[in-house]
Amino acid sequence: MCKTCNKCNITYDDVESNFYKRPKNSDGFDGTCRKCSFEIQRKYLKNNKEKVVEYLKKNREKILEQRKKYYKNNREKALEKQRKHYENNREKVIVRVKKWRQENKDEHSLKNFMKRNGLKKELVDQNTCNVITTILKTKRVLIKKVNN
Ligand SMILES: [Zn+2]
Repeated sequence: MCKTCNKCNITYDDVESNFYKRPKNSDGFDGTCRKCSFEIQRKYLKNNKEKVVEYLKKNREKILEQRKKYYKNNREKALEKQRKHYENNREKVIVRVKKWRQENKDEHSLKNFMKRNGLKKELVDQNTCNVITTILKTKRVLIKKVNN
């Protein structure tokens, strides 16, 4: 399905992303494309600034109340989603965090090692990096064993 904007006469293939939904229209979409709709709105605001400001002033409380409600609803929804995601993926999240810490630990000790030995990252190839990381890891495990 494609649709031609009745304002700029451009025909769009992807109707859904170029026109706003308008259930009252026969095809379910606005007659003007999103770009033109935006332009119309912008012009209206510019030409009717006083009217709009007047409206906002008059309905300030109502608008603020609506906004508050919207944020509250969406905040709770977002938190709920986050909580559910964590509950459902607890194990995965823990593993990921652990992995991230491990990786960053390696990265950190690699950087330290290179710094201590005056090595520059761009002079050391990936293979050498891996070898150094493995050595450092082994060393860390050995130290742990000795300390225990
Ligand atoms: Zn248009």
